[in-house]
Amino acid sequence: HRPASTTSRSMPASDTLMRRARAVIPGGVNSPVRAFGAVGGTPPFIDAAKGAWLTDVDGNRYVDLICSWGPMILGHAHPLVEQAVQEAARKGFSFGAPSANEVALAEELVARVAPVEQVRLVSSGTEATMSALRLARGATGRDKVVKFAGCYHGHVDALLASAGSGVATFGLPDSAGVPASSAHETIVLPYNDLDAVRQAFAQHGSEIACVITEASPGNMGVVPPTPGFTAGLREITRAHGALLISDEVMTGFRCSAAGWYGLEGEQGGSAPDLFTFGKVMGGGFPAAAFGGRADLMAQLAPEGPVYQAGTLSGNPVATAAGLANLRGCTPEVYARLDVVSHAIADAASEQLTLAGVPHVVQWAGSMFSVFFRGEPVRCYDDAKDQDLAAFSRFFHAMLRQGVHLPPSAFEVWFVSAAHDDEAVNAVIDALPGAARAVT
Ligand code: PLP
Repeated sequence: HRPASTTSRSMPASDTLMRRARAVIPGGVNSPVRAFGAVGGTPPFIDAAKGAWLTDVDGNRYVDLICSWGPMILGHAHPLVEQAVQEAARKGFSFGAPSANEVALAEELVARVAPVEQVRLVSSGTEATMSALRLARGATGRDKVVKFAGCYHGHVDALLASAGSGVATFGLPDSAGVPASSAHETIVLPYNDLDAVRQAFAQHGSEIACVITEASPGNMGVVPPTPGFTAGLREITRAHGALLISDEVMTGFRCSAAGWYGLEGEQGGSAPDLFTFGKVMGGGFPAAAFGGRADLMAQLAPEGPVYQAGTLSGNPVATAAGLANLRGCTPEVYARLDVVSHAIADAASEQLTLAGVPHVVQWAGSMFSVFFRGEPVRCYDDAKDQDLAAFSRFFHAMLRQGVHLPPSAFEVWFVSAAHDDEAVNAVIDALPGAARAVT
């Protein structure tokens, strides 16, 4: 394989695929941020991935700082996961009946996150948050939900208002196709603003089923909760008989072995009532979950009145991959994530400083992102107030040099334990040119 050129990329095969894709897939992609809509240009179509590296269909190689948007914490095609998948696949692909891996994966999740007594497995983070929301509404008999601007919980109707991730990338206030009646039940508040939460509960307290929040937001870039914020959410929800849902789809098993909960612990006197998980727990396959206190989970069918189901839920291949991925997350893996993320973030900051580019790096454990503005980011309005054109120039200069960042200024730079010194040095070597390209 040849390295991506330092001046331009030759990608005729990707260009051809994008033309074909556009004819048969809206925008040519199956998830909007992949389209490079915010940064411009054609995305490389990936042919293969191993460890920290992506290879596109033209043979260009890139250090991957997307890591499938989080799941590939051990790196691509990790031997442990590959073996587990092959062994599972040999025994059949989907049974539609209970199987042992589902139990083992549920046990693994319950063992890791103390307040989670039971989980239900699903196939995507969207399904997890959608189901948690239904459970919260069913359990409380209330309809309204509180979410925070800039938080993304998947493309659930009720949660698309002022969402982060692709909704932020494309500058959308919300999505067409969401019924007004559904949006009407969603109260969107600024993140890290407890006064706004108190006010909403003073007005609507008896109608609010739950507050859902990213455990530590990563979908407007990394914006950790300010001290006391999570505790405040817990106290306010409890006082009003509402549930607190901590969305750990991104942070789960990445920020620590027990996710963000493992770092922040119990805040406000008790744990969140429900959690959602995805990404890392699927190891690159479609597996996600929601879970929490057993008395709440007992409200789900077949025991309770809240219906939730799935043909592929607890799929034997996906659960085998997820189990292997989680079991591969040793203390050494988390230590390596720390080393890699700090090496890259420190070098990025140094080069941006040298080039005179205002920026700030924010952290949640080893999860970080670089904002192209000089001031700290505490909420979505702050995150939107950055130099997006500067990010685009930086992004393309990195890509030309063989480093694939997320194509959006509102995303985490994901690393893996497979980012060895060669991969980290390749990123560090690309940074001076990219920082200069900004100005
Ligand atoms: N919740 C959070 C915090 C996420 O980051 C995401 C995806 O990025 C989701 C939910 C939705 O997960 P999925 O894309 O698997 O539906």
